[in-house]
Amino acid sequence: MLIVMTVGATPQQVELVIERVVSLGLKAHPIPGAQRVAIGITGNQGAVEPALFESLPGVLEVIPVSHPYKLVSREAKPENSVVDVSGVPVGGDNFAVFAGPCSVETPEQTLAIARAVRSAGAQVLRGGAFKPRTSPYAFQGLGEPGLAILRDVGREVAMPVVSEALDERSLELVTEYCDMIQIGARNMQNYSLLRTVGRTRKPVLLKRGMAATVEELLMAAEYLLAEGNYQVVLCERGIRTFADHTRNTLDLAAVVAVQRLSHLPIIVDPSHGTGKRHKVVPLARAAAAAGADGLMIEVHNEPSQALSDAAQAILPEELAQLLGQLPVLLPLTGRHLAAALALSA
Ligand code: PEP
Ligand code: MN
Repeated sequence: MLIVMTVGATPQQVELVIERVVSLGLKAHPIPGAQRVAIGITGNQGAVEPALFESLPGVLEVIPVSHPYKLVSREAKPENSVVDVSGVPVGGDNFAVFAGPCSVETPEQTLAIARAVRSAGAQVLRGGAFKPRTSPYAFQGLGEPGLAILRDVGREVAMPVVSEALDERSLELVTEYCDMIQIGARNMQNYSLLRTVGRTRKPVLLKRGMAATVEELLMAAEYLLAEGNYQVVLCERGIRTFADHTRNTLDLAAVVAVQRLSHLPIIVDPSHGTGKRHKVVPLARAAAAAGADGLMIEVHNEPSQALSDAAQAILPEELAQLLGQLPVLLPLTGRHLAAALALSA
């Protein structure tokens, strides 16, 4: 259920509603919007009686939320959310590019790639230190030393950094070293991990599970918001289908579907979405034209030497070329490339 306050409602009136919600043993989620504040209610087992709130001062209306997800829905917040990743805005009219290696390998490799993706125009540096690999014998990531490399390189090039947390232990480290926590496709429905991530106050990049519907993706995000973390960016990264010309089937329709249902930003990962270098740039352009809020792209300075996902890494020059083309596409959907943070002298 959602309590919509009048445009002129005072902070005291909002507080009174919150107190009433809490006194009923429920949880109140104030959602400030451009026009008015809405207060989402969670924790109720059955329907809540609207009359309990309708007569309170400043309350415009009490509406039941028709979707199973509530806080992520557009009913709760009609305007697009903008997530602040340590100074880089993601969502709204800001198109953000996350780029970097699949895995952090060495300080030299990470710094070389970071410098290259930054000068290409990317704003956020990605790099895995805890890798969810299909084979237990494959490179599993450098762990904490990898996060330290990523953090140091991020500082050096003035780029916020994002890395994947696989479990509670790695989550603690990712929270300590990174600006944003990535929850990968394989963990999208790890609800106990999602609850813990929801209790942090770091921005989250939540990737769509490889067999998850849009509704399941939104429900996973709801876990994060229900715990009080509203800084969530969704990511379409391809789903499993019968198609064998591509690693996954990049579902750009999901971007449009999510944007109709939710206020959360959604970016697209054409690297895991296709698994093939030659498909990454064309699908990245398609994502930008479809109205995605950003891209996540794996880049390597020596793709053939990459310790993971070598077949899908593009070269820094290819990223630069792609980003040079975005100003043609982004105005079509009212977006522009977010600015990189200034380098300190
Ligand atoms: C990644 O981005 O490093 C990754 C492992 O992606 P996904 O979870 O989408 O497979
Ligand atoms: Mn990868």
